Amino acid sequence: MSTVSTENAAVTTQNESTQKTHHPVQVAKRLEKFKTTIFTQMSSLAIKHGAINLGQGFPNFDGPEFVKEAAIQAIKDGKNQYARGVGVPELNNAISERFKKDTGLLVDPDKEVTVTSGCTEAIAATILGLINPGDEVILFSPFYDSYEATLSMAGANVKCITLRPPDFAVPINELKHTISKNTRAILINTPHNPTGKMFTREELNVIASLCIENDVLVFTDEVYDKLAFEMDHISMASLPGMYERTVTMNSLGKTFSLTGWKIGWAIAPPHLTWGVRQAHSFLTFATSTPMQWATSVALRAPDSYFVELKRDYLEKKAILVDGLKAVGFKVFPSSGTYFVVVDHTPFGLENDVAFCEYLIKEVGVVAIPTSVFYLNPEDGKNLVRFTFCKDEGTLKAAVERMKEKLVRK
Ligand code: GLN
Repeated sequence: MSTVSTENAAVTTQNESTQKTHHPVQVAKRLEKFKTTIFTQMSSLAIKHGAINLGQGFPNFDGPEFVKEAAIQAIKDGKNQYARGVGVPELNNAISERFKKDTGLLVDPDKEVTVTSGCTEAIAATILGLINPGDEVILFSPFYDSYEATLSMAGANVKCITLRPPDFAVPINELKHTISKNTRAILINTPHNPTGKMFTREELNVIASLCIENDVLVFTDEVYDKLAFEMDHISMASLPGMYERTVTMNSLGKTFSLTGWKIGWAIAPPHLTWGVRQAHSFLTFATSTPMQWATSVALRAPDSYFVELKRDYLEKKAILVDGLKAVGFKVFPSSGTYFVVVDHTPFGLENDVAFCEYLIKEVGVVAIPTSVFYLNPEDGKNLVRFTFCKDEGTLKAAVERMKEKLVRK
């Protein structure tokens, strides 16, 4: 994988006699090939260079007062000891109510919902709880970085199918040929980070029938489901015959602009929930109690909350997309998420990493090089990702900097 800096080389510690000793860093083989995450790298470069951070996807505005108040109240009410391992019952109920509203599916909150520390833990618990060493798991690249690392921790064999611009459509024939008797699961992320692609009903239907035919599970990361702009979000679990073979994962962070709270969940039929919970029990056991109480309040927000969230994000998206086009980028259509992917080649830099370095140091704006989201980094060398989960002033300032300092070659 391409990285911006190679900071994994060695660390220096002070020993008792205050002499400095160099230690080569140590890491187990299963994580050897992975570097410091690109989001951490780029956010620290943003601080170092005083650049505007349109890289890491975290809002620079705060979450809603009624949710924050609920957390404060829960802490004051003494909801501060370990939660039930699988989730505070009130939250499991709220998640199942929300899922019914969103998908029409009725799930048992105590037997089919597991609360985790963010969707990243839901992904880890699902993979570690249901995948055996040597099982094949299919990813669509570009893919969110934790998938491959977690699959590596589970000893899985990763197969990858590349989604290509401009529309990032699923190459169905390639998928048919990639599924084998060893395929245990397909991991889907819709709306999709980093491209903003949303899997269409046709694509999901074909994937569903292939999964049923070949007895394959589906793990879906749907954390951007409330940021679906150009089409309705479709949960794989809601397609005929799919609930029984699907683990649906989601979280609080994106929908409520509270990414630091790290509350997520996995919804699956009891026979799959068993594996998810076995892993969750020994990964984190339980998740922050007061934040779970507050999340149960958040998920019961009136419909108007979700309508306004979308409306606000559409305004931000328009500022960034129009701005990027005016700067001279080729902008690929993004149907959902708070990300947009562009082709940076009009500016003449050799690849995405070089472009992002230039953008930080010379222009003062941070974007994410997409090659880190590909098994084969070459596939992403022309593309960079920008986020619009920032206030309008920040988005406009970033566009101005680019208009001023980026020159087409
Ligand atoms: N999901 C966020 C993004 O894609 C980043 C999360 C992280 O920093 N690991 O930008």
